[in-house]
Amino acid sequence: MRKLPFTKEQMERIAGEYPTPFHIYDEQAIRENARGLYKAFSWNKGFKEYFAVKALPNPAIMKILHEEGCGMDCSALTELMLAKAVGCVGDDIMFSSNDTPGEDFEYARGLDAIINLDDITHIDFLEAHGGIPERICCRYNPGGDFRLGNEIMGNPADAKYGMTYAQLEESFRILLSKGVKEFGIHAFLASSTTDDAYFPTLARKLFKVAAELNRSTGANVTLINLSGGIGIPYMPDERKADIARIGDEVRKAYEEIVTPSGLNISLCAELGRYMTGPYGYLVTRAIHKKEIYKDYIGVDACACNLMRPAMYGSYHHITVLGKENAPADKVYDVVGSLCENNDKFAIDRSLPEIDMGDLIVIHDTGAHGFSMGYNYNGKLRSAELLLEQDGRARLIRRAETPADYFATLDCLHII
Ligand SMILES: *Cc1c(COP(=O)(O)O)cnc(C)c1O
Repeated sequence: MRKLPFTKEQMERIAGEYPTPFHIYDEQAIRENARGLYKAFSWNKGFKEYFAVKALPNPAIMKILHEEGCGMDCSALTELMLAKAVGCVGDDIMFSSNDTPGEDFEYARGLDAIINLDDITHIDFLEAHGGIPERICCRYNPGGDFRLGNEIMGNPADAKYGMTYAQLEESFRILLSKGVKEFGIHAFLASSTTDDAYFPTLARKLFKVAAELNRSTGANVTLINLSGGIGIPYMPDERKADIARIGDEVRKAYEEIVTPSGLNISLCAELGRYMTGPYGYLVTRAIHKKEIYKDYIGVDACACNLMRPAMYGSYHHITVLGKENAPADKVYDVVGSLCENNDKFAIDRSLPEIDMGDLIVIHDTGAHGFSMGYNYNGKLRSAELLLEQDGRARLIRRAETPADYFATLDCLHII
């Protein structure tokens, strides 16, 4: 059984103040998890986690993570603005973008963010939009399949990101000639994996590339960016990544490859899902029960609040609040109200009997939940709440109103 950080009574009180649906995030769990990550990599003096803002772009959450020592990984102008708003500047910001607009580079340079270049052609582009900094990171794409043991974890050759090895080496030479003094190397080769071998395998690869490029170009590599990709257990029987073990295995690779190379490398990560995914919950209420060829529970949330099940067929665990110990002897499709037949949070899910008005908790919505929200069918974005360490709920984003939905039509002067 999945444990919740709140009781039914507590949530009924919260929902009395803030109508469903809403996402609620567990502050204490987010803090403890961040501390666990820092502990796992404490052997590396410069280690820093840059929270991938796209996972949960709420400044209250970003502030909490910043307090725990995290910087922000941004990939768009508005994400940079959010990072700035929570007090991040300079080394606190990693700008890992691709297909980047000139104004985004200019803004990032204005904040003195670390620029993570996606392509060799972006050197000239950056020079024309903000200028070349003295320290820069480059994104590597090794091509081929990325394997852990016999398993294919990703297909870099099909990915639009990063540079080939030859381009990376050429980029280093060009950047050296333009006055760059410190280099970083970044790669993101597998997504949403709970396999503890991912980061160590990636680290080993990037450490070798760092040592090789140092030998061939003389570039001083001071940063290895392991990026994101560590997954979370969405399924009840899935295991959690063992972050302490991951940190220790990366340390072994560091001692084998980096230490003898003479380089002095700080590590960083750009984890998103791992940092907040398990600590968010979409709270919604059952408002209809429909029995046709199957039994449906209609809730007051829809795919606009959480797109993953509709988009990827993702599993999100569901708890019917107050019925945690009741037998799961009914089978339901739990659905939203969109005029789209894929608007289903669960299909053929065994759950306790649901009554109208029951609070339904959808788990693991703390990453790529609210942030992938949209306004299809005229649906409005929900509120976001923070479950604070004293057990109280604080509004950290109000729900949209029709006026918000119509705001961009102000050019028509009729609404
Ligand atoms: C999405 C993304 C991340 C975060 O990925 P997670 O799977 O959430 O850890 C980090 N870096 C870059 C460049 C990304 O695009």
